[in-house]
Amino acid sequence: MEFEYFKYPEKFAFLTDGPMPCSVCLDIKICFDAGGYPGMNDIECICASCLKAGKLIDLDIEPNMILDDGSEAAKTITYKTPSLPTWQDTVWPTIDGKHPVFECIASKQDFTNKQEFLGCFVEDSQSKKDVEWLWDSLPDKKLNSYKEGGDVSVYLFSLENQKYWVWGAN
Ligand SMILES: [Zn+2]
Repeated sequence: MEFEYFKYPEKFAFLTDGPMPCSVCLDIKICFDAGGYPGMNDIECICASCLKAGKLIDLDIEPNMILDDGSEAAKTITYKTPSLPTWQDTVWPTIDGKHPVFECIASKQDFTNKQEFLGCFVEDSQSKKDVEWLWDSLPDKKLNSYKEGGDVSVYLFSLENQKYWVWGAN
C-alpha cells in the first residue's frame, strides 16, 4: 500500500475493519472505506490497487479536494489517493503551485516548539494569530492511528523538507 502523496495509509486512512470485497474488482481484502468519499456514485470500499489505478475517475468519486490546476499531481491526489482522515471538507493544500505529501495527524512531538508549529501553518482565510490556540489542543504523544485523534485535528504535510499544516474539527 504505497501512495505518492499519502505516507502512512495503514495508520491514517479510513480502512474497512476486516477483509471486504472491493466494490470495483470484488477481490476480498482490507480496503479503503469509501462510504464517505464524495462523488456522483456511491461505493462501499475500494482496494489499494483499484484506487491507484484510477478506477474512481470513471465513477466520478473524489476522495480528496484540492485546487484543480490541471496538473497530474492534482489529479492523483483527487482520484488516486486515500481520503484525508477528516469528516469535513478539508482541502489538500497547494504550496506555491506544488503538492505536499500528507504525513500524519500531528502531535506536539512533530514540532520543536509552538513557534515552529505556527510557522508551518498554511494561511488562507485564517492567519497564524487565529490558530495559536491550536497548539494547546495538540496531543502530547505521536499518533499511531487517526483513531487516536481528537475532535480537532492538525493535518501535517511535507514538501521539500518543509512542514506545512492545515486543520479541521469533526
Ligand atoms: Zn479493487
